[in-house]
Amino acid sequence: MNRILIAEDNPRITSFLQIGLQAHGFTTIVVSTAWEAMQIVEAGDVDLLVLDLGLPDRDGTEVLTTLRGQGETIPIIILTARDGVESTVSSLEGGADDYITKPFRFEELLARIRVQLRNRAPRTKQETTIQVADITLDLLTRQVWVGDRLVELSAREFLLAEVFLRHPMQVLTREQLLDRIWGYDYDPGTNIVNVYVGHLRQKLGSDRIETVRGFGYRLRV
Ligand code: CA
Repeated sequence: MNRILIAEDNPRITSFLQIGLQAHGFTTIVVSTAWEAMQIVEAGDVDLLVLDLGLPDRDGTEVLTTLRGQGETIPIIILTARDGVESTVSSLEGGADDYITKPFRFEELLARIRVQLRNRAPRTKQETTIQVADITLDLLTRQVWVGDRLVELSAREFLLAEVFLRHPMQVLTREQLLDRIWGYDYDPGTNIVNVYVGHLRQKLGSDRIETVRGFGYRLRV
């Protein structure tokens, strides 16, 4: 299991990252200051650092140069604001492995995290399918089977189905699903989650996803 340290002071972003990373089997540690981030990395207990540049006590670039100056080699991915081109360049020069510009989609960051970890670690056997009851998702071919019936899903529908299958019987709120699939900066007033749950019901079977009134949705097994 990989342990990811998230150093970010925006709670909306940290909860968005935690939910997503945990759903993919990562362990997450969240801190909101540069000082805490340095303590944890120096203790040697994490495999990758996601580092916000705008932390309240110190600039993220200082964390980066200090850690690299101490010979710290863990992969570091910088989170930076869209207008922060200069700080991004200096981060890469300061030893960051990659960066991502806010606002970003979870899948984008996940892909970068995986690349960094794959570059460092011996290859482990990758999970390629998820199966719950008679629903099977093939994560490589992006094919979906209900029993022996092949079902066509759009890219977003596939991601939504994946979240449900990773959390069978668990109630997922509209906000969690919105954060996870559409990004934390998406308008919380949108009804897009309801619309896509409707699509999944049509394609997977109308009784598969249950509405839990006042809370959200749950995959029935
Ligand atoms: Ca910040």
